[in-house]
Amino acid sequence: MSDAVINKINGTKVSPGIAIGKAYVLGKSNQQITGTLLNGPVEVQQEIVKFENAVINSIEEVEMIKSTLSANTVSLEILNVQIELLQDEQIKTDVMEMISLQYKNANDSVIEVVEASITILKNLNDDYLSARAADVQDAGNRILKHLNNDKPTGCQVLEEDTIIIAEDITPSEVIIMDISKVSGFATQAGGKTSHAAIVAKYRGIPAVVGCGTALAGIQTNDLIIVDGENGEIIVSPGTEVLNHYIEKKNDFLKQTLLLNELKDVKAITTDGVAITLLANISNAADMEASFAFGSEGCGLLRTELLFMNRTSFPNEEEQFEFYKGIALKAKGKPVIVRTLDIGGDKQLPYFDLPYEQNPFLGYRAIRICLDRKDIFKTQLAAILRASVFGDLKIMLPMISNILEIREAKMILQEVKSALTALQIKFQEDIQLGIMIEIPSAAVTADLLAKEVDFFSIGTNDLCQYTLAVDRLNEQVKHLYEPFNPGVLRLIQNVIEQGKKHNINTGMCGELAADVSATLLLLGMGLREFSMSATSIPYVKNLIKNTSITEAKEIHQHVMGLDNAEAIIHYLQESNKQ
Ligand code: PEP
Ligand code: MG
Repeated sequence: MSDAVINKINGTKVSPGIAIGKAYVLGKSNQQITGTLLNGPVEVQQEIVKFENAVINSIEEVEMIKSTLSANTVSLEILNVQIELLQDEQIKTDVMEMISLQYKNANDSVIEVVEASITILKNLNDDYLSARAADVQDAGNRILKHLNNDKPTGCQVLEEDTIIIAEDITPSEVIIMDISKVSGFATQAGGKTSHAAIVAKYRGIPAVVGCGTALAGIQTNDLIIVDGENGEIIVSPGTEVLNHYIEKKNDFLKQTLLLNELKDVKAITTDGVAITLLANISNAADMEASFAFGSEGCGLLRTELLFMNRTSFPNEEEQFEFYKGIALKAKGKPVIVRTLDIGGDKQLPYFDLPYEQNPFLGYRAIRICLDRKDIFKTQLAAILRASVFGDLKIMLPMISNILEIREAKMILQEVKSALTALQIKFQEDIQLGIMIEIPSAAVTADLLAKEVDFFSIGTNDLCQYTLAVDRLNEQVKHLYEPFNPGVLRLIQNVIEQGKKHNINTGMCGELAADVSATLLLLGMGLREFSMSATSIPYVKNLIKNTSITEAKEIHQHVMGLDNAEAIIHYLQESNKQ
């Protein structure tokens, strides 16, 4: 490629593939503070009524859109969140107080309250929660639209192969967009869990988010390339660059086709060993979608997301419906439900955790559950009740010693007895497993194996705690290395001990999805991998083309190497053969 100027913008890749097309720049909503103050209690009352009506009309509008969308689960979920936000008592109270105490008009009060909520969400330093800022903005925009009697925004007319360029994409924009015409997304803001990212992944549309203000220079109709493989946006490419990407796009499509063909093929090695490939999920929609990628169930349900996007703890009934919904979507396939894993990087806005100097080493996950038995028991009761609707298993996160398991088992027994006393049915012999993500657990896997039905290796935290490297700290990210021989030895020990004690061992950390690691892990004896569903075909493709004998040789060779760089190089070379 020798085009002199390549106008390249870097961002975060969130959905793979190459898209080439014309830009469509989404405009920003231009809601502005008027600054007009109210003149006495009569106007205050009028503004409150205006605001209340705008909220009611907004909810009705969302309900109406929902009724037309029954088949599209992602959109439905987006709209359910929006209804929850429109009904949010805190937002309502804040707006009403601003109107009645500060004499601000309804329009200004909504703008200010929404902006304040967005700032709080963005400052929480949590990728998932800051992505929810778009939901709050969207709910606010909808109320403002009704307050100001603005015309409804119609469905945009898009041309084929449109690349959507936006600051961020709000849920409403996603829903009114003619997505069949969209071939790529590029946004200034947003992370891996933004709406643009979720929709793009769900639809298989290449997307790059978090590109920053460099995108602002793009005009509608500019020729754009979205490189979802490398997280790059190329603006107005010359012929040579364009041809290069057309070739890349065709290669990607060929590969996708091949991987799609693998969907219904079993993951069996060339010497006949069957490997189980499961999906990491957060809700029922993920469970359903995972089957299209060939998943055989769920190896990790991160239940904390059910607790995150809301203003109070979900009660037993809500949780029961949630787990039941997933069990039903799993259609008899196993679902490993991880109990609440909050604290550390995952905070709940309504659960005031004390300030800690080292939150990753502090009050989190099973430690909270054993302390706050009310929270733990509610969750266990809901999972147990849902267990009659499918093959649910319970998994405890962040186990560091055997006493935690014993205590959790006693609590589980208490909950079972309480349900029995109430004549509520549940799966009596529901399996109980633990995540191995703390080095002490990995080293004492032989002891822990006697207490549980299965292990699942959480390499994300295991790597963080083994290497003393904060998994979110950019400054030390070069040290965060799952191929470090120290981490690999721990993984090997867990797999060996699981086998020796006849319990199932899976892996649900990111390493399970890393194709450089697949043969090594097979060689170590791992037979169950759980990952984000879209990675399953890639891992399966490798498994199908290798034998356990070859994998064992690779494993042996790797264990003789003394550093991650050499190990990665060797594994990448092995994959090419
Ligand atoms: C892990 O730690 O590897 C894991 C799967 O859990 P999480 O990423 O949710 O901490
Ligand atoms: Mg973890």
